[in-house]
Amino acid sequence: MVGSRILIVGGGIAGLACAWELSHALPDATITLIDAADRPGGKLRREPVAGVALDVGAESVLARRPEALDLAAELGLGLDVVHPATTAASIWSRGDLHPMPKGTLMGIPSSASSALGILSPEEVARAEAEQPWEAGEFDDVSVGDYVSARLGDAVVDRLVEPLLGGVYAGQARLLSLRACLPQAFEAARRGESLTAAAGALAAAAQPTADQPAPPPVFAGLAGGVGRLAEVLTESLRGRGVTIRSETIVRELHREPVTAGSGGATGSTGATSSTRSNGGGWTVVVGPQPRPERLRADAVVLATPAAPTSRLLAPYLPVAARALREIDYASMAIITLAVGADGPQTPPLPGSGFLVPAVEGRTIKASTFSSTKWKWTADAAGDLSFLRASVGRYGETTDLQRPDDELVAIAVAEVSEALGHQLPRIVDTHVQRWGGALPQYTVGHLDRVARIRADTATAPGLELAGAAYGGVGVPACIASGRSAAQAVATHLRARSAGTGG
Ligand SMILES: Cc1cc2nc3c(=O)[nH]c(=O)nc-3n(C[C@H](O)[C@H](O)[C@H](O)COP(=O)(O)OP(=O)(O)OC[C@H]3O[C@@H](n4cnc5c(N)ncnc54)[C@H](O)[C@@H]3O)c2cc1C
Repeated sequence: MVGSRILIVGGGIAGLACAWELSHALPDATITLIDAADRPGGKLRREPVAGVALDVGAESVLARRPEALDLAAELGLGLDVVHPATTAASIWSRGDLHPMPKGTLMGIPSSASSALGILSPEEVARAEAEQPWEAGEFDDVSVGDYVSARLGDAVVDRLVEPLLGGVYAGQARLLSLRACLPQAFEAARRGESLTAAAGALAAAAQPTADQPAPPPVFAGLAGGVGRLAEVLTESLRGRGVTIRSETIVRELHREPVTAGSGGATGSTGATSSTRSNGGGWTVVVGPQPRPERLRADAVVLATPAAPTSRLLAPYLPVAARALREIDYASMAIITLAVGADGPQTPPLPGSGFLVPAVEGRTIKASTFSSTKWKWTADAAGDLSFLRASVGRYGETTDLQRPDDELVAIAVAEVSEALGHQLPRIVDTHVQRWGGALPQYTVGHLDRVARIRADTATAPGLELAGAAYGGVGVPACIASGRSAAQAVATHLRARSAGTGG
């Protein structure tokens, strides 16, 4: 494996984690990470707002999965891991902010009456009269169709949809129950009550004699989650990984089969439609008139579904077709630095609020960063930071608006939700995320299985990233690491002459 060349395409957290894992698993390999953007990190990104570097993409990680916190610890960031000062979120429903009911499963309440206010008394009564669902095997179904059949439309529209909107920027009636709510899918197969399933999960998170304070659900990093990508990038450079930014990979070519091929040598851009058993890869970067060909023994595509599909189309049409079916929602994050207007300014309540689409507003959520993250409040001096997000799957009209209009809408709607005008706006930042979040629509897991099966016929090629088995940062790290392990196994086997 000495001299093995590995190319990682895509420098989001999945590609970076892949490079990190590979730099440990194969310390003698030559690893190059290529990314189209101006800097690595993908959806982990910080930008200055009123002089403070703030997250304008992902801003927290699930702490009940180990991957993000483990990676932070490996990078020497363990002491910088922080937890939200408050997770008390609200739902802006029917003109008022209502506390999110406790113990929900992605908005599905364990007790419908706890959602009174968000739901009308009639809607609570409908949810309490939960309709049975016949146990047994069934095909995937949308979260919205399943939950509305059991608990009524209002639970979907006013509770589940805003929570799913927060994670996937997606629509409940399109997203897959099996992929997005596997616990509810399993409960459905067993014919169990949905509210009981939500209740069981909530009970499992309650304090016990053994564990008086259950571990926090979310974590962040002092200075922002974006630091994870920044420190990881620097650490990779320190380990000899070459990182090329502002470089778009336009083509991927497989080398022709060579019997008993060992380490790849030479340089060829030849393409082959035959199934290779150990041949290498060539990627083409650079502008059309001056293409640059880079050879590798293994390639990891840690890119979103659309570019991955384009790169795979000539060789793996089944995977390419299934990848094309994975659509993305676009979004914008509007960050506001708000000046204090004296001691009479009411504090921002809780960690923020979600807005059901049926409310007809433009923003879909607002996070009160200064209240949620102590480091933000400390850095802010007498300012407050908050952010609002715009953009749901299939709704792009609002995203066509210029930055100043998005800012004005965010200020107006957050002010209305709070019941008072936000004080002086000192600085703003608008981050647009085209192709922000993959939509795990009904059938997603079958789609991913087709992609994986087709890719498995191409040794030395691996896929990673948010398109497959989870959009959250920990899941993306896991997918990057697992792609790295598969590459290491393949190259070791090839080097030992056992194929792979
Ligand atoms: C606004 C927002 C907020 C979020 N908040 C959270 C949160 O708080 N917590 C959480 O867990 N998750 C959150 N997520 C989800 C999570 O951040 C992402 O799903 C995850 O970071 C995606 O990582 P990735 O590496 O798969 O892809 P990306 O971050 O999308 O990276 C893919 C990379 O591929 C590169 N690329 C694309 N095409 C090419 C090409 N042809 N050649 C070279 N490079 C290419 C791009 O430049 C990009 O850097 C959020 C997402 C968004 C958009």
